[in-house]
Amino acid sequence: MKRITILGVTGSIGANTVDVVEKLGAEQFHTVAVTGHANIDGLADAARRLGAEVAVTADPARLEDLRAALSGSGIDAAAGPDALVEAATRPVDWVMSAIVGAAGLAPTLAAIRQGATIALANKECLVAAGDVVLAEIKQHGARLLPVDSEHNAIFQLVAHETTPIERLLLTASGGPFRTWSMEQMAAASPKQAVAHPNWSMGARISIDSASMFNKALEMIEAGHLFEVTPDQIEVVVHPQSIIHSMIGYGDGSILAHLGPSDMRVAIGYALAWPDRPELPVDRLDFAALAKLDFEAPDEERFPALRLAREAMAAGGLTPCILNAAHEIALDGFIAGQIGFLDMARLVEDTISSIGSTGRASQLDDVLAADAQARRVARDLIARP
Ligand code: NDP
Ligand code: MG
Repeated sequence: MKRITILGVTGSIGANTVDVVEKLGAEQFHTVAVTGHANIDGLADAARRLGAEVAVTADPARLEDLRAALSGSGIDAAAGPDALVEAATRPVDWVMSAIVGAAGLAPTLAAIRQGATIALANKECLVAAGDVVLAEIKQHGARLLPVDSEHNAIFQLVAHETTPIERLLLTASGGPFRTWSMEQMAAASPKQAVAHPNWSMGARISIDSASMFNKALEMIEAGHLFEVTPDQIEVVVHPQSIIHSMIGYGDGSILAHLGPSDMRVAIGYALAWPDRPELPVDRLDFAALAKLDFEAPDEERFPALRLAREAMAAGGLTPCILNAAHEIALDGFIAGQIGFLDMARLVEDTISSIGSTGRASQLDDVLAADAQARRVARDLIARP
């Protein structure tokens, strides 16, 4: 029986993970811990469905509500950031890392330190602290299986290849504003930005798809996961989201991974790996699809891609600063404090106002840079 923990069980990836566990047969798994934040009923429901040992909310103020929601189940309740780390430390074979944002870093590192297999959806971990995360994985003999659909696709493609990669082609849907003018984008509301054309995801990553900050983070993520330099990573806009990414080799061949726009494929692959599971997801119908479109991204309307390339070139703590400033920018946009296009400006201004950075070799360096970038970005938002 595989012992598993799901960090961020109440989110979109978390719910899909619960579904995949149930589809593959809940009796094959023993769930140790599940975690959430504000959604206490969802957390208790997931814990009961999976028969978890412990359910943890990140918010200490919600502990009593969680206890009440779990009453009679025999499932332990805990709360707060330390309890998240304690839950991730409990011995398991497999951990789904699906907390959103840098809040996922500490529990993911705890899971890495126990040497578990980490199914990584939380890309912010790698963007903010890629070098630290990868060093810890090596040190503790943990294994990383990427869940982000593009990286999962590439991971599937490279599984049987020993030839060096010439280029990685990350596909991007282009999001809901792919054809919008600069003026329309400047006036876009969070509600419009959250309406992703193909994927059903959490609110934050959906808005990041509209700004292409999601792809920007994914470029940095790919740089850490695969042996490529930043100039080997290209972004291709592919509105149908059928090709999940591609690899080019030196003989001109391109290998592509295709499938339905359903995160359960990537989650199932990570859960059953090295086997491939049987999943009740849609099968592609090429006659119905008829055609697949491609275009180059417009970096004037989507400056996030340029910012990612520049951050990768700068290296050190700059990607961490980009990630933290972006989280603050996203909070500001959701709260109506700044406009849609202001997000990229705020990230760029935060990076340039901090200037050159040191190396990202210690977790403390990363946490300090993250905190500094959040402070600077908040100050910039508050400036009249
Ligand atoms: P959601 O917003 O749907 O879920 C986020 C999860 O994190 C929830 O369980 C939420 O709890 C929890 N959470 C929020 N804030 C905190 C906090 N401060 N401390 C601890 N836990 C917290 O996000 P998604 O599922 O969409 O995304 C999760 C991660 O996976 C992100 O990093 C995203 O970029 C990545 N990803 C997602 C994809 C998708 O299809 N959704 C695709 C590829 C990558 P609660 O809801 O209870 O408040
Ligand atoms: Mg993705």
